[in-house]
Amino acid sequence: MPSPNRLEEFALIQRIAKRFGGLQNHTIVGIGDDCAVTQPNSKNLQLITTDLLVEDVHFNRRFTNSRDIGYKAMVANLSDIAAMGGVPRQFLASIAIPPSFSRNDVDALYEGMMELGKTAGVALIGGDTSTAKKLLLSLTLIGEVKPSHVVQRTGLRVGDAIFVTGTLGDSNAGLRILQTPPRKHVPLACRTWLSQRHLRPTARLNAGQRLAKCKIATAMIDLSDGLSGDLAHICELNAVGATINITHLPISDALHTYAHHLDKPAYEIALQGGEDYELLFTTRPESLSRIKRWNTHGLLDASHIGTITPKQQGLQMITPTGLTRPIRIQSYEHFRS
Ligand code: ADP
Ligand code: MG
Repeated sequence: MPSPNRLEEFALIQRIAKRFGGLQNHTIVGIGDDCAVTQPNSKNLQLITTDLLVEDVHFNRRFTNSRDIGYKAMVANLSDIAAMGGVPRQFLASIAIPPSFSRNDVDALYEGMMELGKTAGVALIGGDTSTAKKLLLSLTLIGEVKPSHVVQRTGLRVGDAIFVTGTLGDSNAGLRILQTPPRKHVPLACRTWLSQRHLRPTARLNAGQRLAKCKIATAMIDLSDGLSGDLAHICELNAVGATINITHLPISDALHTYAHHLDKPAYEIALQGGEDYELLFTTRPESLSRIKRWNTHGLLDASHIGTITPKQQGLQMITPTGLTRPIRIQSYEHFRS
């Protein structure tokens, strides 16, 4: 779409193309033509995902710099590819920039995307540019997966074990810290670590690909809305229930420390959280020993948190004192300004 100042836009696109574009990863035509041209491996399926980040809905520029915004946009998209067991290849970046956004800010935004993009092996092949009152950033990421490897949100059954990677709730705690500095003393190392988990979460590409390749995951989803919300969603899709053992939730030391200062159980933050970008997957009970082995050898970092149950049992948790209670479902709404 044409924008008010075409000349400036051309210059901007040229600079982006020169610094951040590139022909790799099965790309034949990149930035500069009407379309990008790619040649996917003919045996593979193509995965396509997109994610839109809106200033003051998904991020706040008061405590998020441009580089971190770019970085996180890339995580959100890579995480979707990870959740299907795929390999990311190319991406397009569409931006609408406010007048307060400088040339350096634009560069930093792309540096953030490419910092992670390079590691993940993705090439920037196009996008679109416009202006807006607030910053908007939308990435579209293309990936590949072998037909026999693709993992969906459906496919699990009653009796399957539920796992999550990494630790939960850190990102939400980090956001709280960035929004409102804690009143009581919280060690600097703990505050910094949690804030970083919010600003720069990890996309679990290796874990997703490993689980897909070995056909161990019966279903998989990336946790962007918080464990309770995403679990409710996947259970609804499959017409099943789930029981989560609270004492098995993976909780970082930093979250324990912060939750203690808040006088709130850490598990509540882990359950309701949001933007963890960890993977939730289910497996048949036969696969438990294999996952345990992978964990021991450092090939996976996954915690067995519960079991899929019949639908009529709903979403339950076993509390630290051994009681069974319904899980309060709260979908993550980022933050309201
Ligand atoms: P159109 O009028 O067809 O939208 P543009 O002038 O917007 O064409 O885009 C020209 C080329 O630059 C295309 O290859 C497009 O994908 C790419 N492009 C435009 N904006 C961006 C951007 N912000 N980041 C990366 N590539 C971009
Ligand atoms: Mg355009």
